[in-house]
Amino acid sequence: MNGQTIPFDLSPTILYYPMDMITHSGKGDPTAGQKQCKICNTSVNLLIRCTYDKSGQWGMVCGKCWNDVSGGVVDGDDKHPYYRYGGLWKNRRAQQQQT
Ligand SMILES: [Zn+2]
Repeated sequence: MNGQTIPFDLSPTILYYPMDMITHSGKGDPTAGQKQCKICNTSVNLLIRCTYDKSGQWGMVCGKCWNDVSGGVVDGDDKHPYYRYGGLWKNRRAQQQQT
């Protein structure tokens, strides 16, 4: 018997800010949120994270360059010993493209 009472008002008030509310600059710009390919410097909505040279450094490359460095195989092949797949990056703010 320690006489202490358990406080029931501990629930923290956490505000979840949607990311869009923080980074909505450049709205309407079709290149908003795009990232540059590490190899050809083209800004695109989809990049592949991978290693592609003997430095072993991770980089984000566009689909075109990815084909070059990986041989078009997600897990790489014998001809691309430095290539390692690390995931996809997608621009969540990409505008709908009319094709
Ligand atoms: Zn590229």
